[in-house]
Amino acid sequence: MESIPDAVLGPRLDRIGSTDPALVNAWKAIHGCVSESTPHRLVRAVYFEPNQLKIEMDKMLLEEKDRIRVLYHSWGTKPIMEGNEVKGVIFESKEGRQAIFAKVVIDATGDGDIFRQTGTPFDTVADFDTRSRTTSLVWRIGGINWDLFTEWKKANPRANSALNKGIRKIAGFGSILIASSRNDVCWVNNWHPDMDCSKIADLTQTEIKTRDTMRDVVEYLREACPAAFRNAYLYDIAPQLGARCSYRLQGEYIMTVKDFAFAPRFDDVIAWHSTVCMINDCAPIEIPYRAILPRDVENLLCPGRHLSADEIAIDWLTLIPQCVGTGQAAGVAAAVAVMDGTGVRNVNIKKVQDILVEQDVPLPRNEKTDPSYTECCEEHEYGLYTDLAEKARAQGDALNSKKFYDEHILQWYKENFSGK
Ligand SMILES: Cc1cc2nc3c(=O)[nH]c(=O)nc-3n(C[C@H](O)[C@H](O)[C@H](O)COP(=O)(O)OP(=O)(O)OC[C@H]3O[C@@H](n4cnc5c(N)ncnc54)[C@H](O)[C@@H]3O)c2cc1C
Repeated sequence: MESIPDAVLGPRLDRIGSTDPALVNAWKAIHGCVSESTPHRLVRAVYFEPNQLKIEMDKMLLEEKDRIRVLYHSWGTKPIMEGNEVKGVIFESKEGRQAIFAKVVIDATGDGDIFRQTGTPFDTVADFDTRSRTTSLVWRIGGINWDLFTEWKKANPRANSALNKGIRKIAGFGSILIASSRNDVCWVNNWHPDMDCSKIADLTQTEIKTRDTMRDVVEYLREACPAAFRNAYLYDIAPQLGARCSYRLQGEYIMTVKDFAFAPRFDDVIAWHSTVCMINDCAPIEIPYRAILPRDVENLLCPGRHLSADEIAIDWLTLIPQCVGTGQAAGVAAAVAVMDGTGVRNVNIKKVQDILVEQDVPLPRNEKTDPSYTECCEEHEYGLYTDLAEKARAQGDALNSKKFYDEHILQWYKENFSGK
């Protein structure tokens, strides 16, 4: 993606972790690119141009066209069960109802559309106070000048604060402007509170309500900050609404706040959590294979934003890198299980890990992983020098995700985060 003009915005990989004040200063206006805690460091947060990403992903699929069959416009509706074994999936499309039989089924629908019907245990929507219980229809504004906007914000902090409140007021729900990979385009991210993205009524309401505010928001920005938005116009609207969380698996391992406060090492690690978590300053946390492995059901894996976590930890785990990571691991595990004839429950996890490492996933404690990744985590104490981590660790085994969230993390949001 980096070779495509204007397709990527984010600090270069070789600069991650740098505390160079000039670099930190250059990136701090871009949400997520600088660590919250001091000394401020560059974080690998990357913004992609979605249309270019789609083209690139299709190209990746085409590279494997002889080995995989892609069916867009098809909706998986039901698992085919034989006792507790998933044998395939029924799907619906313009061609009617069809079935695919499979040695392993991977449910990556995000809302457990398939696993919910298999008899495996699962939970419903995340705690209503968290980011997960919000829906969104992102859209973009074109004809702007983001650099001028950044300068204006620096020179006019009060006016900027009023502008942020103004957008929220006009929209009627949390909304913020975010940079894009182009200086003349910005994102509008939003958070409709108390929504369930598995409910049609909530999805419909999110779309209609967001679209209804767009013209007014653009008009408001033109007036509030003409230097940057004089020529602003509605550029595009996401073709699909953004769902953050609804149902989640109760798998063989359920991730909790403890995993973020103690950074445990898992023998069956398949991916890193590596994005937003205020407890450990966004440092990497290991995700075990068991977090995508359902209980009581065979031949099924459940990676992505519906993986196995409690109502608080899910908020940190649904972010893109860990969805990509667990998805890739599910694919590899399924292939290894089929090749070895073991089934996914008894898959040779060391083999899965070795293949992932060969595919450039830097899993810890693997002889082929560049040791500097793990050394970096250890050197930075897995980010566990934050006040929140200390408070969490002080509670030891008694640490309860929900209680800790109510007592400490909500406070952290109030003090540190101007978004939701
Ligand atoms: C507005 C918004 C902003 C976000 N911003 C960020 C961010 O800045 N950084 C970050 O890291 N994360 C962000 N997230 C979170 C992150 O994008 C998602 O949690 C993540 O992309 C989920 O990936 P996934 O593949 O598990 O699920 P999804 O991306 O939801 O993918 C599921 C796919 O399955 C398809 N599908 C669903 N059901 C079926 C079915 N029954 N049959 C067939 N296909 C089906 C869907 O069409 C979709 O393509 C954001 C989320 C939202 C909504």
